[in-house]
Formats: sequence, structure tokens, C-alpha cells
Amino acid sequence: MNYSGIKYTDMINGEGIRVSIFVSGCSHYCKDCFNSDTWNPGFGSPFTKDIEDEILAYFKKYDKSIKGLSLLGGDPTYIDNITPLVSFLKKFKLAFPEKDIWIWSGFTWEAIIQNSHLLSLVKLCDILVDGKFKIEEKDLNLKWRGSKNQRVIDIKKSLELKETIRYIE
Ligand code: SF4
Repeated sequence: MNYSGIKYTDMINGEGIRVSIFVSGCSHYCKDCFNSDTWNPGFGSPFTKDIEDEILAYFKKYDKSIKGLSLLGGDPTYIDNITPLVSFLKKFKLAFPEKDIWIWSGFTWEAIIQNSHLLSLVKLCDILVDGKFKIEEKDLNLKWRGSKNQRVIDIKKSLELKETIRYIE
């Protein structure tokens, strides 16, 4: 898996101060995508063990001020990204079980819960922003998403209650 960037003090992508990883690879090709360079899974640099260790070390150093981790792209649920992200998140959750994890996906929640491969990654996270960006539903006033069709979903509650529970409307 490649990544295009890491924001170590991100206050835009999720609640609180976060570390955000922007991975490469996306199969959704949304019209007017804000980040089309990252469609190519070869874009950016390899997400190596050294990078993983750097992120973990940052969380350790700034434990009190960082609320959690955010995974964006590209698409973190792009087929080739799932196995490396599952592996990284397992290490991350073991080291920092109290931190929350947000994930953005071009797939809808309904598609994710019917696909065990996608779900193996998403169920390790707390909040999902789902669905493709739709230019005709673009709304600059929305929090954490670009178009009205996208939802901010509480993953744990949705799995527990077997219905789609939104974190915010
Ligand atoms: S899912 Fe995200 S990265 Fe992929 S095409 Fe749509 S807006 Fe762009």
C-alpha cells in the first residue's frame, strides 16, 4: 500500500486533534473528486514499517493531546489497502485502545456490511463516513463530508443494533 501524506495535527478530518493518513488507491472515480491523483494505488510512497513505527511513536509522545486516528484517501477500503490497514490497526489498537479511529470509504455502509473483506477493516474503526462524493449533492456546510448522500455513521452501535445509526445528522 502507498500513501500520499500524513497530517500529524489535523483538526478537520474528525473530532478533536487527530493524526490523518491519506492512502493511495480508489476505484470509485467520483466526478470532480478533490484528490484524483490518489486514484492510482502507486501514487505517493510505500507505507512501510518505519512509517508505522513513526506514527505509533508520535501517539506515544503526544498521547494526551491526540484524540485519534483518521484514515482517508484515495479510499482506505480500496481492495489492496484492506490487508495492510487491518494489520496496522491491530497494532495501533493494542498500543492505544482508548483512541478512536475514523475511516472514509467510497462504499456505502450497506455494501460494506455485505462484504466480509471490507467489514474486516471497517469493524476495527469507530466512525465511518460512507459513500461516493456526488457533485450534484455537494454542500460546503456539511461536517466531515462533501455531499449530502454521505453519512457519518457510528460503526459499533450500527453493528450492535443491526441498523444504520448516524453519529451526527
Ligand atoms: S471515493 Fe473519494 S477519493 Fe475516491 S473518487 Fe470518490 S471522492 Fe475521490
